[in-house]
Amino acid sequence: LPDPDVVALTDEDVAGMLPRPAAESDKYRRGVVGIIAGSDRYTGAAVLSAGGAVRAGAGMVRFASSAEPVALVRARWPEVVTTVLGAEPGRASIEEVGRVQAWVLGPGMGTGPEAHALAAAVLASDVPVLVDADGLTIVAADRDLLRRSAPTVMTPHAGELSRLLGVPRKQIEARRLEHVRQAARELGVTVLLKGSTTLIAEVGRPVRAITTGTPWLATGGTGDVLSGIAGAFMAGGLSGYDAVSAAAHVHGLAARIAAKGHGPGEAPIAALDVALALPEALRR
Ligand code: AMP
Ligand code: MG
Repeated sequence: LPDPDVVALTDEDVAGMLPRPAAESDKYRRGVVGIIAGSDRYTGAAVLSAGGAVRAGAGMVRFASSAEPVALVRARWPEVVTTVLGAEPGRASIEEVGRVQAWVLGPGMGTGPEAHALAAAVLASDVPVLVDADGLTIVAADRDLLRRSAPTVMTPHAGELSRLLGVPRKQIEARRLEHVRQAARELGVTVLLKGSTTLIAEVGRPVRAITTGTPWLATGGTGDVLSGIAGAFMAGGLSGYDAVSAAAHVHGLAARIAAKGHGPGEAPIAALDVALALPEALRR
């Protein structure tokens, strides 16, 4: 990347950003992340996003969704505090979830009227929000949701960025650097553009390029894990820009660790393997 305004990060750079528990820490001060993900149709995204946050070291993960994703998250991650939203027909209140320091909004949540209302409620809050997946589809159709008092971070792949900007996907892929900068400028948010090289843009800051991953990451659900990691780091006090940078870096590293297993060469990974390899990636 010859552009002088694009920077790479070393393991040491990222280690210096990561939140660490102080001697006097308690779970609340370490950071409570709220996750709104999954639906009765897409349940796995919920488990993967929650798992990313748990394994990245959030002080506490609060998770809210419909009944089925909640049941699965509870079964897989007993650490997570859950809320079934809309238990009463037509109602979906995020007030029931409790106080959080950052929100993750979107993986598998659907894009219908109830999902839209939920997204609007989360985005109306005064804490940082990371928007991914279906959350991106919702804000692409209703940009007014982005007028908020706290920072917003978005984590699109090329297809999602195409929808957000109204630019053909092929053109995004041909000019990734240009369009990730355009998105940060036009939407007034921090943007992480996924791909074999992940690019992170924020107005006034250099674009960061993350290359720790492996093509084995190109499998369903890995992006959901990334959202949870970044949410945990935001709740831990990192800026959106540092949180998504550090998250993408350790996500790629965890994928490499998972793909290598205990032998030479690499083998296919599942998204959950990435979440499970996070502690080893963070140690490194
Ligand atoms: P998603 O598209 O939301 O499922 O996210 C996919 C994740 O896998 C992102 O973190 C991408 O950056 C990563 N990824 C996808 N394809 C590749 C690739 N060819 N090389 C490295 N990472 C990739
Ligand atoms: Mg995704």
